[in-house]
Amino acid sequence: MTDRKADLIIIGGGPAGLAAAVSARKEGLRDILILERDTRLGGILNQCIHNGFGLHTFKEELTGPEYAARFIRQAEEEKIPYMLDTMVIDISFDPETGLKKVTAMNPGEGIFTIDAKAVILAMGCRERPRGALNIPGYRPAGIYSAGTAQYYVNIEGRMPGKKVVILGSGDIGLIMARRMTYEGAKVLCVAELQPYSGGLKRNIVQCLDDFDIPLLLSHTVVDIKGKERVEGVTIAEVDENRKPIPGTEVFYECDTLMLSCGLIPENELSNKLGVKMNPVTNGAFVNESLETSVPGVFACGNVLHVHDLVDYVSGEAATAGKNAAAYIRGEKNEEGAVINIKTENGVRYSVPSTVRTGNMPDTLTVRFRVGNEYRDTNLAVYLDGKQLMRLPKRVMAPGEMEQIILVKSKVTDIVSEAGTADHELVIRVED
Ligand SMILES: Cc1cc2nc3c(=O)[nH]c(=O)nc-3n(C[C@H](O)[C@H](O)[C@H](O)COP(=O)(O)OP(=O)(O)OC[C@H]3O[C@@H](n4cnc5c(N)ncnc54)[C@H](O)[C@@H]3O)c2cc1C
Repeated sequence: MTDRKADLIIIGGGPAGLAAAVSARKEGLRDILILERDTRLGGILNQCIHNGFGLHTFKEELTGPEYAARFIRQAEEEKIPYMLDTMVIDISFDPETGLKKVTAMNPGEGIFTIDAKAVILAMGCRERPRGALNIPGYRPAGIYSAGTAQYYVNIEGRMPGKKVVILGSGDIGLIMARRMTYEGAKVLCVAELQPYSGGLKRNIVQCLDDFDIPLLLSHTVVDIKGKERVEGVTIAEVDENRKPIPGTEVFYECDTLMLSCGLIPENELSNKLGVKMNPVTNGAFVNESLETSVPGVFACGNVLHVHDLVDYVSGEAATAGKNAAAYIRGEKNEEGAVINIKTENGVRYSVPSTVRTGNMPDTLTVRFRVGNEYRDTNLAVYLDGKQLMRLPKRVMAPGEMEQIILVKSKVTDIVSEAGTADHELVIRVED
């Protein structure tokens, strides 16, 4: 066991970890180390070979590996050290010294620990498995999460099947409907339990509509036929309580069922560390600096909340990297007033969930999702009871992340007028 020290440890070398590292380095931080359990950097984007990445960040359309490569190149140009094949298995915090002890292991060195002044959590997310979905039937071959199928097709060059039904309309499932069609499979339909899709509108158009693949909203798989290999699935319509409606069952003969039913942030390490978690996102509660409830531990990317676009992951991670560097320099101690963000009436959560005005940048992006599909409504934001903004919205849907931008001067004007210790910013949907 070797024991080391580093100013900043970044856990995960995906788009979030890489952007955080590059940003911390640009802030002048020298002693940075990325720990990545995979045998290469880039995270899940290595298997996302379709295009559409980078429109915001690079103003051009890149594939997932191309997008990841841009950040890997930047990290290498900045000579940021990283360790591959290295899995972090524990983080602990010493409140007396403020140091974080990161325990990791790899085949070359076994188990070792590193003491860090700050840690950035950038472990991404994983897919919700079949076990979490309560689908009756045997456990035959031919049931894949959409991401696993994506790995087989795009990385290993193997076809999971020829006749496919997809359950869940998350973006990975939509992308895989198109990918399987390109590779010669027949995708019979995408069944979605909710009355709205969980994916981006652009993916529904480009991956389903363009290939005449039906999207069955308010439908679910109620039975899987086949003992050794999937032989077919039964799909039924569901009522407003998401319960299958008897008599609506339709049997689809197929050899493959793909599941695209949500992503779960990989927060086992954060939980063990005692980070305060948001039950809505399954990610950490963070303040305006993307710092968790454990001082000097920051979070960004899909481990914090599931993003639609990797461009937003990179932007958020750059903020985490910048703030971690400031923390290590001993800055970011200006508490000022503390504003708690409350989400209600259709808005499910926000990132961040608290804002310390003393550390607030001139403009602060607050991201959130709504819990239902809304048309021709308004997004209203109140601070200490005063309306801060009211934005007309033609469509808002759970599959599309929303954001507002808070302007520090406006926020501090209202907060100082209120003269109270506790402040509340409310984000809600209003007619
Ligand atoms: C299967 C799948 C397909 C996706 N397809 C798309 C898509 O087509 N388009 C899109 O915009 N988004 C897609 N996403 C979302 C995508 O994850 C994000 O856009 C982006 O990759 C998130 O970046 P990240 O760095 O937060 O996470 P990731 O890219 O998941 O990177 C996290 C990294 O952390 C590492 N890690 C985790 N735990 C540890 C540990 N304990 N120790 C060391 N390393 C660890 C992982 O190995 C991984 O490399 C997909 C997600 C999944 C799961």
